[in-house]
Amino acid sequence: MNRNGMRVSWRRASSAALLAACATICVFSPTAAAQQASAPAGARAGAHLVLLGTSGGRTSWRGVQAAGISSAVVVNGQVYLVDFGAGWLRRYFQAGLGAPPPARGLESLRAAFITHLHADHVVDYPSLVLFGASDGLSERKTPVRVFGPGARGKLPPVSGSTSGVSAIVSPESPTPGTLAMTESMYRAFATDINDNILESRKPNPHTRVEVQDIAIPAQADIDPNTNPAPDMAPFPVYQDENVKVTATLVSHPPVYPSFAFRFDTAEGSVVFSGDTSPSRNLIRLAQGADVLVHEVIDTAWVDALYPKPRNAAQEAKAHHLVHSHTAVEDVGAVAQAANVKVLVLSHLAPADNAEGRWARAKEGFSGDVLVGKDLQWIPLRAKSRTNAEQ
Ligand SMILES: [Zn+2]
Ligand SMILES: [Zn+2]
Repeated sequence: MNRNGMRVSWRRASSAALLAACATICVFSPTAAAQQASAPAGARAGAHLVLLGTSGGRTSWRGVQAAGISSAVVVNGQVYLVDFGAGWLRRYFQAGLGAPPPARGLESLRAAFITHLHADHVVDYPSLVLFGASDGLSERKTPVRVFGPGARGKLPPVSGSTSGVSAIVSPESPTPGTLAMTESMYRAFATDINDNILESRKPNPHTRVEVQDIAIPAQADIDPNTNPAPDMAPFPVYQDENVKVTATLVSHPPVYPSFAFRFDTAEGSVVFSGDTSPSRNLIRLAQGADVLVHEVIDTAWVDALYPKPRNAAQEAKAHHLVHSHTAVEDVGAVAQAANVKVLVLSHLAPADNAEGRWARAKEGFSGDVLVGKDLQWIPLRAKSRTNAEQ
């Protein structure tokens, strides 16, 4: 595979669009991103990555414009969602993913995949059911499939000193997985859901959303606290006529399980890191992929956020941010080791960082780097690259 040939074909394929001015690192202005707010011509065919929200962590309320982390893979007009960060549903329609009238919207959403159960990845999961019932979910012939982490199984240890630690919530079930979380959500919103069933003849959500905890292949050395992501081969999660989805465990302590996902399509492949420190499992999963969407953190921001000296709570938060995520100066080496062609930075922490702060992502990586912006459409286009190189 010739990287130069690949770049030429991308630019040729989208010469008037987002990638036109792309050098080795591409930082797109909000204006450029806004120009891609609806599906580009021809997007209903082929395969595209769509960035819905690119903000990492729980910073949306602090005036950050980017939505919470959420992405989509669009293949032959069918939509596959990764994570339900704050504002994903609004971005879904802004990106042009809603089905055209007279359909209502979510008819094209085929399946969704949750990387892990940190709140910034699932805070707007209820929107799928509570608003989706009025946005096309009711008209669907088949349920939306949702795949997410199963139960953690045991509580994480207290980090540092035990003094000042609050009592946990829900001690009878302190680490529920995706399926149990969904059933709890239905109970929590039962007043609204039952109003809609009885008054507006909306369907029971169980008939429109089919939820499944992802089964992890048995491996003796897995332990949620001491070995949450041992070396492992990627394993299958989902397959239909458009995509094959595989997963692996990545290292994002104290979270377990935390997944990365790979989507293989006839038009190309894209991998989502989820939240992780630099991960051998991710490098194995992403080997040779066309696009790697990787989380990234600016550790200088962490130092500014939690200046020393730190108290125990501040030290714990700073430690999590630095050791459970991937620093901007390290992400290029991950992309190089994975032999991917394009590195897309997302889950930006902080999302309102000066754009130049992300330039170090190019260190150690010979491919192209894109700094993700909400509402970007990025073609996978493996076929056209292959043709261009022949
Ligand atoms: Zn996150
Ligand atoms: Zn996380």
